[in-house]
Amino acid sequence: MSDIDGMEGVEVTECTRCADLVESRSQIVNGDGPEDAGVLFVGEAPGESEDEEGVPFVGRSGDVLDDELRDAGLPRADVRITNCVRCRPPENRDPSQEELANCRPYLEREIELVDPEVVVTLGKVPGEHLLGRDIAVTNEAGSVERVELGGEPREVLICLHPAATLYDASQRETFTKTIEKAATIAGGNSGQAQLGDY
Ligand code: URA
Repeated sequence: MSDIDGMEGVEVTECTRCADLVESRSQIVNGDGPEDAGVLFVGEAPGESEDEEGVPFVGRSGDVLDDELRDAGLPRADVRITNCVRCRPPENRDPSQEELANCRPYLEREIELVDPEVVVTLGKVPGEHLLGRDIAVTNEAGSVERVELGGEPREVLICLHPAATLYDASQRETFTKTIEKAATIAGGNSGQAQLGDY
């Protein structure tokens, strides 16, 4: 494994590749969770709360994700969560193709080091970025594709972005089922009651 400038292990410690994002960010938001997690969730880019706290998915989308993970028997503390782009874009716009490409080596390296059993893409931007094709995320949510990532072929599970369930409550069931599938792939859902249920 070759070292990447500005990275220490799975963390980016300094980066000035994207002029707009250097301007708009408060800090670089690295992945969160165990470095040997079986499930790696990949979102789009930090929002306002994430930029403030320096942790991915801590705003309203993060609450939805945390609740679904808990219900699927896969606590947030057991998974790793990261983003395609580690700095908050101005006015929460989508990251540009150039920004996605600039941040890609960091993501590849994180995937290589974490070596998860499944990578779960949260929303259209990470889905299209990692699969390298257009996706219709609502129709394709729950499907798994094998893709070369972090140096080897890996299972990628397409999932809605948790915010989609806030805009449209009818999407919640699809989101729930996909998270349950991630838990099953990771072997985290035995179907038995967890101690924490009592
Ligand atoms: N949405 C994302 O895609 N990533 C975050 O970290 C938070 C919200």
